[in-house]
Amino acid sequence: MINIKEKKIGIIGAARSGLAAAKLCKRMGGIPFVSDGGNADKLTESIAELKKENIDFEIGGHSEKVFESDLIVVSPGVPSDADVIVKARKRGLKVIGEVEFASLFNESFIIAITGTNGKTTTTSLISHLLKFAGKEVVTAGNIGVAFSDVVDSIGAEGFTALELSSFQLDFIDTFRPDIALLLNITPDHMNRYDNNFQKYIESKFRIVENQTKDDVFVFNAGDEVILKNLPALKSQQFGFSISEKLVNGAYAEKGKIFFSENGRAEEICDAEKISIKGEHNLMNALAATVAAKKLNIPNEAIEGAFATFENVEHRLEFVREIDGIKFINDSKATNTVSVYYALRSFDKPIRLILGGRDKGNDYGDIETEVLKRVKKIYTVGESADKIFNFFSGKVQTEVYDSFEKTIKGAFNDADKGDVVLLSPACASFDLFPNYEERGKEFKRIVNDL
Ligand code: ADP
Repeated sequence: MINIKEKKIGIIGAARSGLAAAKLCKRMGGIPFVSDGGNADKLTESIAELKKENIDFEIGGHSEKVFESDLIVVSPGVPSDADVIVKARKRGLKVIGEVEFASLFNESFIIAITGTNGKTTTTSLISHLLKFAGKEVVTAGNIGVAFSDVVDSIGAEGFTALELSSFQLDFIDTFRPDIALLLNITPDHMNRYDNNFQKYIESKFRIVENQTKDDVFVFNAGDEVILKNLPALKSQQFGFSISEKLVNGAYAEKGKIFFSENGRAEEICDAEKISIKGEHNLMNALAATVAAKKLNIPNEAIEGAFATFENVEHRLEFVREIDGIKFINDSKATNTVSVYYALRSFDKPIRLILGGRDKGNDYGDIETEVLKRVKKIYTVGESADKIFNFFSGKVQTEVYDSFEKTIKGAFNDADKGDVVLLSPACASFDLFPNYEERGKEFKRIVNDL
């Protein structure tokens, strides 16, 4: 653990992670100074908290003071080529991310989870599994609780289930997870990586860069991008797969889950026992199985945890059934891959609500599944015209001018046995503050029908 007593720590970004880093810095005896180039209106809660905590800060720009620090900590919202970071580095200052900063004070066993899709689900599942097995666990990272908020509340006997985004991995230095999971890699957030997929891939792989032979790396053995880009690794490697037997790893075969080490396979449980449905969730559960087996958690506990896990809100969440019509909230599906898996999770005809802020989608990714399973597309938001132009003529598609009318349109058309699925393939920021609000609004409207 490093000693930052009386050290000046400049923190870039005053939102959730920056605020958490500043408070951790203070608890550890350092002197935090928070600097945010953004608008004060958007940071009212943070500002109130900083004042309450008596932490020095500036909003609306970065003054000289921030460069007078011993160390700079950036929150993941700040791009690595931001002026303030370039400037800090030019002056020879060390710049690290909030996760790296928190990890300097960590004593717990870290299970870190990254990937394009499935991070929150798998992190929550692993956390649930460990708790079910009687372990002490904190859940943190890109999941609403900053690592800095909890790192000093968990000791050497405890576990941290840590969800990591590529933005967080961009700013690690010595961070070394005991178990690292890489769920999948498909193009996403390309705006932040100069439309360079390779840069995004490299970011994801940074999760293993400090691992040693004592650590474990768990990866999706069916993901072409991962397989093609696997670096030389020091860590012990385990795969997971829904389509092939593995010598080292977890796989599904004939409805059962197996774990194998050096070719010695053992049955863990029936795949049917897993409470969350769909091929994608089976993959998430297989990834979690490897982590659990490497921690010597008994098979009964793994099975029990899988059976009792309640999925996270806004991920294929069942809302209500009206006259045999099921409503599903998958507001977190902000790219085409998650929609692909959502569509494959139902064996009923689907009325699909698509649209929002498009992050560069190619709707060709879901075309085959849509043609197979979707009765009609209901589209709304910034990307509605793009979606209409892509799908009209292939499947019935209608554009709406409000979110509420879209849902009501789908409900009015729906027949008994249909599924009305909000799985928008787009971010929510055109109409909502975030995907949570979009999901809540969907549920409110559906519950009022
Ligand atoms: P993340 O935290 O990586 O965004 P979530 O667990 O929040 O992932 O899920 C985001 C969306 O992706 C949801 O629509 C969910 O149903 C879907 N999803 C979950 N796991 C996977 C996976 N392994 N592969 C593809 N899509 C997934």
